Amino acid sequence: APTGYEGSILIVGAGTWGCSTALHLARRGYKHVTVLDPYALPSPISAGNDVNKIVEQGSFDDGEDGGYVSQTLLRLASEGWMNDPVFKPYYHDTGYIICAHTPDGLEQLTKREMLDQKADFEWLDSPEAFRATMPKGVLTGDFPGWKGGFKKDGAGWVFARGALMAAYEEARRLGVKFITGPQGNVSKLIEENNDIVGVETSDGQRHLADTIILANGAQAPSLLDVKDQLRPTAWTLAHIKMSPEECKLYKNLPVLFNIESGFFMEPDAERGELKICDEHPGYTNFQITPSGHKASIPFAKHQIPREAEARVRAFLQDTMPHLRDRPLSFARICWCADTPDRNFLIDRHPDYKSLVLAIGGSGHGFMHITSVGGFVADVLEDKLDGRLKTAFRWRPETAVNRNWEDVQHRRGGPNKVMDFGDVKEWTDIPPRQ
Ligand code: FAD
Repeated sequence: APTGYEGSILIVGAGTWGCSTALHLARRGYKHVTVLDPYALPSPISAGNDVNKIVEQGSFDDGEDGGYVSQTLLRLASEGWMNDPVFKPYYHDTGYIICAHTPDGLEQLTKREMLDQKADFEWLDSPEAFRATMPKGVLTGDFPGWKGGFKKDGAGWVFARGALMAAYEEARRLGVKFITGPQGNVSKLIEENNDIVGVETSDGQRHLADTIILANGAQAPSLLDVKDQLRPTAWTLAHIKMSPEECKLYKNLPVLFNIESGFFMEPDAERGELKICDEHPGYTNFQITPSGHKASIPFAKHQIPREAEARVRAFLQDTMPHLRDRPLSFARICWCADTPDRNFLIDRHPDYKSLVLAIGGSGHGFMHITSVGGFVADVLEDKLDGRLKTAFRWRPETAVNRNWEDVQHRRGGPNKVMDFGDVKEWTDIPPRQ
């Protein structure tokens, strides 16, 4: 039996990684697993509570073994989407167009984003070539200066909320206990004898366990000093309503992702809405904490800055100008946490032997919902692949005097990290029923 087999495990956070971890532990036979979250699932603040996410090819790792880590992550994630009955129904192998429109953007595109160079990328370098990738009437724009690669299969998108809920339901079926609502709102980690022995929730309850797994995404720094290894950063997404005829026409489209301006996939099946993300290096919310430390503090908001709306409309102008002026039906900011090298942080805490960290999604953590929980379970069992272990390790030395403005290979918008403190105007979208 694996180490800790009979022991109790608490997972803080029932988001993307918390649910994946719960599922993997249950499948390995762990019997006493409890997950805590302040919200009923799907949590409205989970980065995974979204209509779709890209399953993409990019390299997010600058380390020596970067190629190995990226390829291994991609292979394991893809195996899950292709073969795991829990996740398979949510994967859409529609293909993927990745492109840019400035010389710098194009350089980054070929060096970093088209990782799987063996894959058959058809090169697109004219507006006609772009328009021909989708049925007539979808792409009507001029694609000014756009160039990029079209990979026709082996990439695509996933119905994110569906996959998240499927992981949750399967974990629950296998015996994992979920405590949600105020009773699941972890307010602090309980430290005793130089270890973390449990958590306290906002209703005053203490939950003790043999192992505590921190998987609360961008909120992790509120419970643990992560030594500046996480930068909570938000991105922006907006939906527009499509007609039933449009939904039909827009079915099974490849993902279109311009790394300098934004991306979209087909409209979601539940509400017939098209989601557009404007691409940029992200927004922070820096504050000086009571202890005098500078930290980016996440907050929830179902609106986006007007400047983000303007970028969404500029993206539509270049690609689908017939949709440019349609009112937004939904929008929100969505928080994720970036490590300095954008590698995950999945490790046992060096000072607290019962605490395991599963944080640092770094903007590409959703597509790994199929496999990331397996890495966490491997950490518990002390058998994580050596090169992944190095890449995912606790590494405060990489965050000393961290440059909080580093764009970390992201582009778009003003090509710099923005801060919500500078945002003057927000959208005014009526709340959903
Ligand atoms: P989350 O899914 O956010 O989960 C955190 C959980 O912790 C939540 O359920 C929350 O309710 C809970 N929590 C918070 N506070 C507490 C507390 N005090 N006690 C207990 N629980 C708590 N990735 C991709 O692979 N492809 C994409 O196309 C992609 N697009 C993205 C687009 C946007 C706009 C954003 C923001 C992210 C995108 N990502 C994408 C990244 C991906 O969504 C994240 O990396 C991933 O979802 C992170 O998972 P997580 O479990 O760490 O965090």
